[in-house]
Amino acid sequence: MNVEQDEAHSNYLRKRLEREKRAREQAESLLESKSRELFEINQILERSNEYLDEQVQQRTSDLQAQTRLAQDNATRLNSALERLEIILTAARAVSWTYDINQRTFRVNGGNTELLHFALDEPVKLDELKQILHPDDQAQLLESFSELSYLNHKTDTRLRLKDQSNQYRWFALTSVMSRTDTQDPMLLGALVDVQDHVRREEEAWALSNIDTLTQVANRHYFEQLFARAKQEAQDTRTGFTIGLVDINEFRLINESFGQRTADRTLQALADLLLDQFEGNAAVARLAADEFVILFDQEVKATQAFDRLEQLVTSIDHFELNNGDRVAITLSAGAACFPHDGQKFDHLLQAIQTANQHSKQSRFSSPKCVMYHPGMDVSRQRDRNIRQNLHRAVTKSEFAFALQPLVSKEGEWLAAEALLRWPKGPQDCSTQDFINVAESCGLILPIGEWVIKQAMTQLSDLHAIDPDFWLSINVSPAQFQHQDLASTIEEAAQGAKVDLSRLTIEVTESLFLDDLTRVKSSLDRIKALGCSIAIDDFGSGYSSLGYVQQLPIDYIKIDKRFVDQITERPESHNIAKAIIDMSHSMNSKVVAEGVETALQVQALAALNCDALQGYYFSRPVAPELLLAELKQRSEAL
Ligand code: C2E
Ligand code: CA
Ligand code: CA
Repeated sequence: MNVEQDEAHSNYLRKRLEREKRAREQAESLLESKSRELFEINQILERSNEYLDEQVQQRTSDLQAQTRLAQDNATRLNSALERLEIILTAARAVSWTYDINQRTFRVNGGNTELLHFALDEPVKLDELKQILHPDDQAQLLESFSELSYLNHKTDTRLRLKDQSNQYRWFALTSVMSRTDTQDPMLLGALVDVQDHVRREEEAWALSNIDTLTQVANRHYFEQLFARAKQEAQDTRTGFTIGLVDINEFRLINESFGQRTADRTLQALADLLLDQFEGNAAVARLAADEFVILFDQEVKATQAFDRLEQLVTSIDHFELNNGDRVAITLSAGAACFPHDGQKFDHLLQAIQTANQHSKQSRFSSPKCVMYHPGMDVSRQRDRNIRQNLHRAVTKSEFAFALQPLVSKEGEWLAAEALLRWPKGPQDCSTQDFINVAESCGLILPIGEWVIKQAMTQLSDLHAIDPDFWLSINVSPAQFQHQDLASTIEEAAQGAKVDLSRLTIEVTESLFLDDLTRVKSSLDRIKALGCSIAIDDFGSGYSSLGYVQQLPIDYIKIDKRFVDQITERPESHNIAKAIIDMSHSMNSKVVAEGVETALQVQALAALNCDALQGYYFSRPVAPELLLAELKQRSEAL
């Protein structure tokens, strides 16, 4: 090989080497870059793996946390439900749902001992109604039907039968809601509020009901009155109110004690409820003062008749301890709006009417309807009453004596008629006796009369030992005093002959318990006194009494005597009374004889004695004693 060839070959080799070197270098750098890429990819992969791992871990722990939470929630929910049950049970409540389509009611939880229904038992509405108090049926339906999506909650109270079939009060809360399928449904709670209601009722009763008699008290009555008044004004009608009280109630208190007096009030309250409760409200205003507020539907005349019937039919109470107390009642009535628009005015009106009832009770017990003229006499009576108290303590009384004369003109006896010289002007004996009877003052006055009669009797006997004295006693004295003992005690110091004393009683006395009256009269007779029936023919006029009771004299009322010469009926009645009395061995006195014609007529009828202005007016005792003296000296 030549040099050139060598050179060329070496060039070639060199170049090839260089090419190879370059290629290698390129390959190397490629490799390097690829491997760098790979490395990076690897790194990325690694990182993303790490990230995924993290994610997985995170997710796992999240899931674990959520599971724990769910478990916690479930436990919490369970314990919340348990707690709810505990609370419902403790609060004596049940939760319920009502399916509107099915019309079924279900108790879902709570105190299942309260009601008849088992937990989750479907109860048809009709079955539910069977344990619902009849008065509360409407309440339930109303409270369901008032629910809407606008008004989604209602509350009411109703009575349901509990497991022992007793009605109990429940508070019903109803809420409008939806089922899972979005249908409307009702749900709510029933809470036993029986104790609560009872306490409410007790509190209400405490301020509205009279504890002794269990009728409305004054406070509640005023509310009832206001309601009745409003109603009457709205409907342009009226109503009647009445007042009933016990005559001389104070004396029951004094003579039998407070317990008996309380029982008497209870008996009266029971009687009034029994008689009027259906269409009237009964209340106790004070001591023995009861008011009756009649419903609008009851006409005034009906109310009046019923009160009258009560007053005339009751003469005693059987108390709840077996005791028996004799009582009489008075009643007054007035009408809204006619006799007053305000409570106080009407109250005054019935009190005034009642006062009149009291005054007339011995002649004819009745209910009295108020009229405005009564106010004047009420004022007058109040004045008399105030003065009478003083008169009693100072014994400001005196007798006037009026002779009783035989048909031959002989003076046989005198009637002692009470006088009150210092009494108010125009106040007659009858006026103040009436007031005294209505307020109980008749008792001390009556005692004075009996005592004074003894003095009178001994004065009379000093002149004529055969002369009689008649005194008047009021029925109240029989009711509240032991009259025989009072007479006996009065006679003791006076040394008088009681067989010359006549006790005049009025017929109304026999409205009382007859056996009681008879035993009183028997005891008075046993002292030697005689008994006369005063004003015979003015009231109940039954000769039947005369037969049953120890009556010595019958005094024919002035009314018959007045007309004896003019009206044949009066003449006939007088004749019948005289004949029948004689057949029963009683004597007859004619009262109020004013004319010679009357004397003639009565003498012809064989009347035993006559009394009246024709012979003498009632005169001061000294005058009568003087006249008597003259007459006995003339004999
Ligand atoms: P009374 O017991 O019927 O008495 C008769 C009344 O008629 C007396 O009225 C007497 O004055 C009157 N009088 C007598 N004769 C005539 C007459 O010819 N014409 C007229 N127009 N009247 C005559 P007085 O004294 O006003 O007594 C009225 C009533 O008061 C008595 O009626 C009696 O019920 C009662 N009273 C009188 N004193 C007492 C008493 O001491 N106790 C009681 N509880 N009541 C008495
Ligand atoms: Ca008399
Ligand atoms: Ca009389």
